[in-house]
Amino acid sequence: MGFCEYTLRVNEEKGQNLKQIPDFLVVGAGINGLLVSRNLLALGASVMLIDQGEVARESSWAGGGIVSPLYPWRYSLAVTALASWAQEYYPQLVRQLLAETGVDAEFERCGLLMLDAPDQSDAVSWSVSEGKTMEVWGAGRIYEAEQNLAAGFGKGLWMPHLGHVRNPRLCKALIASLKQSPSFVLQTHMRVAGFEQTDNRIVAAYTKAAGSKESQSVQAGAFVLTAGAWTQQLLGSLKFESGVAPVKGQMLQYRLAEPLIDSLVLHKGKYLIPRRDGHLLVGSTLEYADFDKSLTKEGRKILQDAAVGMLPGLARYKPVRQWSGLRPGRAGGLPVIGLVEPHENLFVNAGQFRNGLVLAPASARLLSELIMNQRPFIDPQPYRPGTDPRGSLKAIEAQAS
Ligand SMILES: Cc1cc2nc3c(=O)[nH]c(=O)nc-3n(C[C@H](O)[C@H](O)[C@H](O)COP(=O)(O)OP(=O)(O)OC[C@H]3O[C@@H](n4cnc5c(N)ncnc54)[C@H](O)[C@@H]3O)c2cc1C
Repeated sequence: MGFCEYTLRVNEEKGQNLKQIPDFLVVGAGINGLLVSRNLLALGASVMLIDQGEVARESSWAGGGIVSPLYPWRYSLAVTALASWAQEYYPQLVRQLLAETGVDAEFERCGLLMLDAPDQSDAVSWSVSEGKTMEVWGAGRIYEAEQNLAAGFGKGLWMPHLGHVRNPRLCKALIASLKQSPSFVLQTHMRVAGFEQTDNRIVAAYTKAAGSKESQSVQAGAFVLTAGAWTQQLLGSLKFESGVAPVKGQMLQYRLAEPLIDSLVLHKGKYLIPRRDGHLLVGSTLEYADFDKSLTKEGRKILQDAAVGMLPGLARYKPVRQWSGLRPGRAGGLPVIGLVEPHENLFVNAGQFRNGLVLAPASARLLSELIMNQRPFIDPQPYRPGTDPRGSLKAIEAQAS
């Protein structure tokens, strides 16, 4: 069923004016909501995007913007499938957005250097079977590339095609582009609190504006949940279990007088990201604290110690900023993308956990293809809502540390 049919059915039953009801209501304006909205608009649909806060001020703002899973071989091939397509597409997306909006999301293909990974032979096997360029470096090559690293690193894995993006700017460019479309409406500071349904169809979302006790009903032809770490709150109201839950991450930022590294550097699950403007980001903690986003001294110390351990020159500096975000974690480590059955017009795209920025373009493509009943570019089965997420939320931590 295409979006026109969703809309027509709503209109037939409600007798409303087609123009007042969007084809899609997208809930959550992080990277996933923004990219899904972009794809739906490109297909000719009308879209209302709602966020309970500002556009992209949650995880999609807080993230580091590495356009790769950390230790990519430790993830399932279903994550690799999404990541591989998105990594190819990222430069084109950033170029297109720059042309459309003048905002440069600064995609930098600076390479990722992973130091002393204990499972190096698994990494090499993965790179061969997945056709990824990966070089095994000894100490000589490591220090030739990055002179300022601490002494003592003997083994490195180098993936030259990987890089990072300025994620806050990417989201800024996306919303600027969306706003150019006459078929797009944005509503911020409006929380979706539940849904009205008739049989298996969602007919409206109950929304509450910030500071108001009154709830308003917003109709649409179909509904797409891209509410990040909060997705289960919405699905829970429909008695659907998605396995998505928040995992807090804290980050630090330094302002350097001169660059200390050129590439992304990863060691024991902590990483350094050199931005073009002289900032260096350090990430990140993994904390299970429900929806608590508070910054802690302990988090700061863990990140500072890890950063100075990799790059002793940082000891001269104090971090200029600390922040946190809530990753949409999901047991089993795979996102949930597709139709939320038995509802015939409710879709979800969430649970990308630590990889939401890299996976976003591919997740949005897959969801749009499923919505439009087009042949999906990859097998959608592993991400299907209702497939029991295997393993515990904490078990996925092992993949990334
Ligand atoms: C510290 C940290 C570092 C990270 N580093 C990386 C990295 O280097 N690379 C990478 O690929 N990924 C990284 N990630 C993960 C990535 O940031 C997330 O997976 C991704 O941003 C999730 O995007 P999202 O759109 O699903 O969620 P979000 O960006 O959290 O957006 C969800 C939106 O939904 C809104 N919302 C929620 N409930 C409702 C409701 N009921 N009504 C209306 N609106 C609602 C929220 O306000 C929010 O704006 C990192 C994350 C963190 C926290």
